[in-house]
Amino acid sequence: MSRFEEQVAVITGGAMGIGGATSRKLASEGARVLIADIDLDAAEENVKRISAEGGVAKAIRTDVSSHEDIRAMIAAAVDEWGRLDILVQNAYGVATNHDQSLGSAVTVSEDAWDRGMAVLAKALYLGAKYAVPAMSENGGGNIVNLASVHGVLMAPKMLIYEAGKAAVIGMTKQMAIDFGPEGIRVNAICPGHILTEGLAKHWEGNEDGLKFFVDQYPVKRVGRPEDIANAIGFLCSEDASFITGHALFVDGGHTIQLQENFGVQQAMYAREHPELKFP
Ligand code: NAD
Repeated sequence: MSRFEEQVAVITGGAMGIGGATSRKLASEGARVLIADIDLDAAEENVKRISAEGGVAKAIRTDVSSHEDIRAMIAAAVDEWGRLDILVQNAYGVATNHDQSLGSAVTVSEDAWDRGMAVLAKALYLGAKYAVPAMSENGGGNIVNLASVHGVLMAPKMLIYEAGKAAVIGMTKQMAIDFGPEGIRVNAICPGHILTEGLAKHWEGNEDGLKFFVDQYPVKRVGRPEDIANAIGFLCSEDASFITGHALFVDGGHTIQLQENFGVQQAMYAREHPELKFP
């Protein structure tokens, strides 16, 4: 019997990247998957891929910065398959290298803050608002929220992303306490650098830059979307039935290291390679 047979999962941002791999992983283990993504064409492509592999999936255009879209996304899953068991809150649309989303409390605009927080934090509260009652109807379920190593360790001039991801970890713990009695476990994942389709493009022509990243990981590689999908599968499975409110680092050991050594190495490396751009 597959781990998620009979279960229904909603994956925000499930068209590509980590969400794309997670949609395929859960579908490959029996879940019926609703891919809720702002890019409907890409979501349909992933549905085709899942169907070709024998899985069951549908796509819905969802902008997680819209309250109404989030309500409709949960309703669509329940209307289609009659229940909800898993919600993966993964969608991400605030580019960290976008001029307006970078900056300190002094420099970021109020508008950029509001737009960033709408996707990074408010969307997860709204997702739970509609998912929890639906899950409770069939005895419980699992919510997995995508945080980041950036939710715990801060990088300079990244107020919005870092504050948003720290909020994800806080909300995860709060929700775990509030919804545990209803049979709902809520966990977060803190990925390290994951080479998604988008980030692979970013590194094209900058192989030395990527190698510099790789060298910083004790396992001597950065992550693959499947690494995160596997961890999400574990957290949603019965094997993790006593785990809730946890923020699981899936980062190849990157964050267990003393950082001051890296600061010196990075400064020296950047001085030797002024042509490299670091994300
Ligand atoms: P990605 O850019 O590869 O994919 C994001 C998906 O979200 C896309 O399918 C996109 O269309 C969709 N999306 C964007 N804005 C949306 C919106 N407003 N509403 C609905 N869908 C929207 O992203 P990724 O790298 O796979 O990241 C997924 C999650 O993992 C994010 O929460 C991100 O912060 C987190 N994360 C990623 C990394 C990494 O290295 N890739 C590291 C740490 C944390």
